[in-house]
Amino acid sequence: MYQRIVESLLYPVLVKKQGSKELAILAELQHCEKMSSDELQAIRLERLRDILQHAGEFVPFYRERFAAAGFNPTTVTDFSDLQKIPILTKKDIQENRDALISTAYKRQDLIANRTGGSTGSPLQFFHDKQRWDVRQAATIRHNLWAGHKIGQKVAVLWGHQSDLAGFQSLKAKLRNIFIDRLLICDSSSFSEASLKQFALDFQRFQPEGILAYANSLALVVDFMKANGVELPPPKSIITSAEVLTAENREKIESYFGVKVFDRYGSRETSVIASECSAHFGMHIGAEYLHLEFVDGNRTVLPGESGDILVTVLGNHAFPFIRYGIGDVGAAAPQSTCSCGVTLPKMQMVAGRTTDFLLAPDGRKVSGAALTIYLAAKVPGVRQAQIIQRERERLIFKLVTDSQFNANSKAMIEERVRHFFGATMGVDYSLVNEIPKEASGKYRFSICELKGEDR
Ligand SMILES: [Zn+2]
Repeated sequence: MYQRIVESLLYPVLVKKQGSKELAILAELQHCEKMSSDELQAIRLERLRDILQHAGEFVPFYRERFAAAGFNPTTVTDFSDLQKIPILTKKDIQENRDALISTAYKRQDLIANRTGGSTGSPLQFFHDKQRWDVRQAATIRHNLWAGHKIGQKVAVLWGHQSDLAGFQSLKAKLRNIFIDRLLICDSSSFSEASLKQFALDFQRFQPEGILAYANSLALVVDFMKANGVELPPPKSIITSAEVLTAENREKIESYFGVKVFDRYGSRETSVIASECSAHFGMHIGAEYLHLEFVDGNRTVLPGESGDILVTVLGNHAFPFIRYGIGDVGAAAPQSTCSCGVTLPKMQMVAGRTTDFLLAPDGRKVSGAALTIYLAAKVPGVRQAQIIQRERERLIFKLVTDSQFNANSKAMIEERVRHFFGATMGVDYSLVNEIPKEASGKYRFSICELKGEDR
């Protein structure tokens, strides 16, 4: 009953007061997700032309890049025309951040964001207000596929302090109690005490949904099973931010007795794709994104794995065109889905993986959470990988640029003390490149401890 009041009254009033268009965009997305592929394709092509023309006219980086490639954005007739444009690499963004901002926007109107580089390369970038509203709407739409409605109580196991910090002010706390209704659990590190507290909070809160880092939730389940703790089953579970292995999916589903809806997204692009009730591949948010799956510059066939390139059909202030996100996936062959959504599907092949690292006092520290704390804010870090071979030492394998200095090291060591305690030592290994593994998977944190130490 209260959920209905939030959904139909409180939430709409709040977003209207904020001047957000997210609910109107949500209605449009829910209309588009059932369209015929021809209808949808026409809308998408219009959006593609619009963003390419804007980029060619107002974004210095693309103006130069299009000219060098002999690409004329006004002549685009098909998505295959994109292949004339070079891939946008993370290095391009690191080196040309200001030239990627559209001159049609004022800097103070933009929303700054950054990624810690779970694929190893920290980035800073911007969203315009319209794109921000699309992101919010897309998240709600994909939540609805998993049965998470606005106003339902959701337990969130998330590790990014910057995401959680928004819940600290009194206003934010009131908003959370009456509207968002989230039980926020910082999953950046786990000790036996924090896991016990989590179980108590969870039993008291009785969430209808769970949103979690895949590895963190699996770790929670291991602890609850080992200690005979039973948690009330939510209606559904969404996992995100890191690869959900088949083993972890089985573990989580059998413990809670409900299905997991896995999701693929990133800070740069918001939700890219997510599972529906069919649990067979993930529907792509094709209204606002175009994905390519490539091997070099060759587009691979449906079902064949390729590097994922993302073109955001919007965010004029900072366009992402053929952005090499660093994950590997495959387009699914076209077929109708039992859930009724007509959006195309994809499958993840290899993405971001992180191991838990062990603090000397026994806490397990989430690699996925460390990406933003350690890599995103340290000057001069281009790529990072953390390796633990000994209980009291971490090796930071880094690709750096000229901005990297003693202060950068001091920042890393300060964060290490914060997460791992004062006795954890740090070694550096500066390298020219941190390659992906042969599978295409990028490992941000690697725990090589054996047996008892693990
Ligand atoms: Zn479906």
